[in-house]
Amino acid sequence: MSEKYNVCLDIGGTKILGAIFNEKKEIVYRLKKKTKELGDDTSNVEKVIISVVEDMINESGIKKKDIKAIGAGAPGVIDQDAGVILFSPNLPWENYDIRSSIEKKFDIPFYIGNDVNVGVLGEYKYGVAKGYKNVVGFFVGTGMGGGLILDGKLFTGNKHKAAEYGHMVLDPEGPLCGCGQRGCLEAFSSKKGMSAYILQQTQRGRKNMLSDTIENGVFKSKNLKKAMAAGDPVTMEAVDRACHYLAIASGNMINTISPDIIVYGGGVMEAVGDEFMEKILAEVDRYCMPSIRNTVKLKKAALGDDSNIYGALAMIEDAKK
Ligand SMILES: [Zn+2]
Repeated sequence: MSEKYNVCLDIGGTKILGAIFNEKKEIVYRLKKKTKELGDDTSNVEKVIISVVEDMINESGIKKKDIKAIGAGAPGVIDQDAGVILFSPNLPWENYDIRSSIEKKFDIPFYIGNDVNVGVLGEYKYGVAKGYKNVVGFFVGTGMGGGLILDGKLFTGNKHKAAEYGHMVLDPEGPLCGCGQRGCLEAFSSKKGMSAYILQQTQRGRKNMLSDTIENGVFKSKNLKKAMAAGDPVTMEAVDRACHYLAIASGNMINTISPDIIVYGGGVMEAVGDEFMEKILAEVDRYCMPSIRNTVKLKKAALGDDSNIYGALAMIEDAKK
């Protein structure tokens, strides 16, 4: 019998990462495609997903009949059991049964979940949270994602809307957040939040290394890394502020959940995670009860940009049980 494979996708607002896993859970083929490559019309996202899967099958030489399943993480509120995207802020779907559509196209089982949930699942099954039962994940990127594993199971709450603790309000008089509230964790500690602080300081006449690199309200993680390495003062203020609020949010989650481990992932942590961890760890004890803090580990994600791809694999494996 020929070897079987799984195709795993990380669907983002601007790009899709794809990987093919063999039975030993090794990545044997990778592909990356910008979602804009098929034009700016976001309704093309599904076409890009299909073309990524088709290209991966063609270019890898793996036969379609040897693919067991396709798994994907995507932003938004997703009914993982039904494979329906209920709502996505960056993608064109509402109450969209993407599972039926993709399964009809390829005749291969298709699974999809919220990208941060899937990323935390990846870290839980294959990364730094392996072996623990209660996991809190903070994913620091353009926004601030949350994912929660309780008693060894992904917790998605009523109607799949849980774990939005990026929108935990930490200062009701704080900066405006994309969700409409003020002072959410995301408004301080995400790339959007840090970028807004830097632009505000620039307007006050304070020169810095990042403001010229900010596009559509966000800097790139690699530019943040450069500015931090150079010790750019305005950048360091934004980072200290981001880590201060991440420490408060972490303290709140420690008191609320008493997790075994908190995992910090996403593009920012991939680029400058060691510096962020040092700052968070220096402060977090102030914001939680010592008796609970004692039994919690705080760690950077281990799979980096591949958290979601491994999480998609974990989702496929869970679904088959
Ligand atoms: Zn918010």
